[in-house]
Amino acid sequence: MYEALKDKLNTYGRTLLWDFDRYVSLCGFSELRLFLIDLRKRGMAYDDILDEMRARYAIEYSPNYLVFIVSSEVPKKIAQVAKMLRLEQDTPADQRKKCIHCGRLLPMDSLFFSKNNAHKDKLSNTCKDCDRASRIKKGVVNSDGDLRKKDPTLRKV
Ligand SMILES: [Zn+2]
Repeated sequence: MYEALKDKLNTYGRTLLWDFDRYVSLCGFSELRLFLIDLRKRGMAYDDILDEMRARYAIEYSPNYLVFIVSSEVPKKIAQVAKMLRLEQDTPADQRKKCIHCGRLLPMDSLFFSKNNAHKDKLSNTCKDCDRASRIKKGVVNSDGDLRKKDPTLRKV
């Protein structure tokens, strides 16, 4: 779709695609997710994408899981990143909280900090990026956030 439309779109359409690419680049997607997004942007059919994944990464996803990733997980993540960017820009200093791990001053919002009722502000003291990095380090999830042991569609072929 992307390649076919690129030269035909008006400026507004091109700006939308540019925004899409920009948000995708900010989402922290794994190499595999970026590969899937790229193939879908070119309009490749799901069956062909599954073949490509097998050939290139020796990974087998069920067709349903692939559709879920491309039509639900990825768009949700992009919308979330767009919202986070807006919050980061618009949140005044007195409505921010410092992550005790990375030291960044981030908006006091559950998009940035996990909920934690033990704290007065009901938010964790470490940001979600640091939580995630720690979970990956411990081997609980992979870089896509897939639970390693619980996800039956994540099997090597
Ligand atoms: Zn942090």
